[in-house]
Amino acid sequence: MGTQSVDAALDRLDRRKRRAYVLVIVLVGAVTAGNWVIAEPGDAFLTYVYPAMIAFLLACVPFLLNPRIPASRLAPVLLGTATAVVLTRLVDMLYRSESLEARLLDLTGAQYWALGALLLLTLLVFDRRRGARVAGGLVALSLALALGAIALEAARGGPVAEATEYLLRVHGFLGISLVIVVASLGFREELHRATERAEAYRTQALTDHLTGLASRQAAAGRLREELADAARRGRPLAVALLDVDRFKDLNDAHGHEAGDVALVALAGGLEETVRARDLAARWGGEEFLLVLPETDLAAAVAVAERCREALARLPLDTGPVTATFGVTTWDGEESADRLIGRADRALYRGKADGRDRVVSLEPAAPAGVPRGTGRC
Ligand code: GH3
Ligand code: MG
Ligand code: MG
Repeated sequence: MGTQSVDAALDRLDRRKRRAYVLVIVLVGAVTAGNWVIAEPGDAFLTYVYPAMIAFLLACVPFLLNPRIPASRLAPVLLGTATAVVLTRLVDMLYRSESLEARLLDLTGAQYWALGALLLLTLLVFDRRRGARVAGGLVALSLALALGAIALEAARGGPVAEATEYLLRVHGFLGISLVIVVASLGFREELHRATERAEAYRTQALTDHLTGLASRQAAAGRLREELADAARRGRPLAVALLDVDRFKDLNDAHGHEAGDVALVALAGGLEETVRARDLAARWGGEEFLLVLPETDLAAAVAVAERCREALARLPLDTGPVTATFGVTTWDGEESADRLIGRADRALYRGKADGRDRVVSLEPAAPAGVPRGTGRC
């Protein structure tokens, strides 16, 4: 994926995140407004705190819709507000003067649901580790509040057995859910990292690290694909194997690093000379493979000849370099190995005949007997 498409994907994600925040605010606002309408008289929380919260959250909407303000800055503000409201309401409910058991239904039916939603939001807004710490802290705080309320109730002489059982169960449920969600987020992260690593290794294996051309492994794969395609469509396919002449001498005279520089330049020269549909790959040390789809022998020889001339013209610090090419075409049914083997024999013949030339072999030729041209 190019940088631009990564940016576009991140932009899309950012917009979706903002829309999700606005939607949550609208939904929370609607639920709160409903509560407000049916509020019992004297419930100061519903009368004052909820409307203030709705007003604050609605005031955040224009900021959320402004793409210049990073969503990552707004999320903690929204989360902080929601946490403050849920915790205050929890304290309000737990520490009222009525009996704790009378409030259990309200607590488990609404407040702990709100707390559960808050825990999930915390995990969404922060990264996994921080989210797990904050959410775990919230569960612990909520448990401490509940135990405090139970202790107070016991001190007042009220019944606490049922409330204790329910509140412990609720916190057990919240804690276990949190552990499950955090663990599954961990697995997902691990899987994502492993996929990324595998993708990086794959790219590395398919690209030659020195020249940036396709590696031998990538070229073998591509050749198999092209052979299948040529078979399906009944089209010709040619390959050319080329080996730089007397490269050891160049290394010996100028050093291995200068040899590397020459190899990079040669790879660039090849890539510029072949057609877009062709593949130029590094087959071995100073050996390259050209895969030429839709190409018969005469056309392949012409491509190889063009490449030979282009390489010889490259302005290298180490002086001009020549290469020998072995060219052949697919017989319509043989394996990739046999095809390459024949190109290799043609190349070998070219070396034996004096190098700096293109030698071709037709498929039907008996092994080792070239029918093609000498120098083209
Ligand atoms: P010929 O014309 O017969 O091909 O002679 P040659 O010297 O090119 O043949 P040979 O295969 O004996 O030597 C190839 C040399 O290519 C030997 C090796 O050191 C060099 N070589 C292989 N890979 C690299 C590389 O990645 N960098 C550099 N600098 N040299 C390499
Ligand atoms: Mg060689
Ligand atoms: Mg060589």
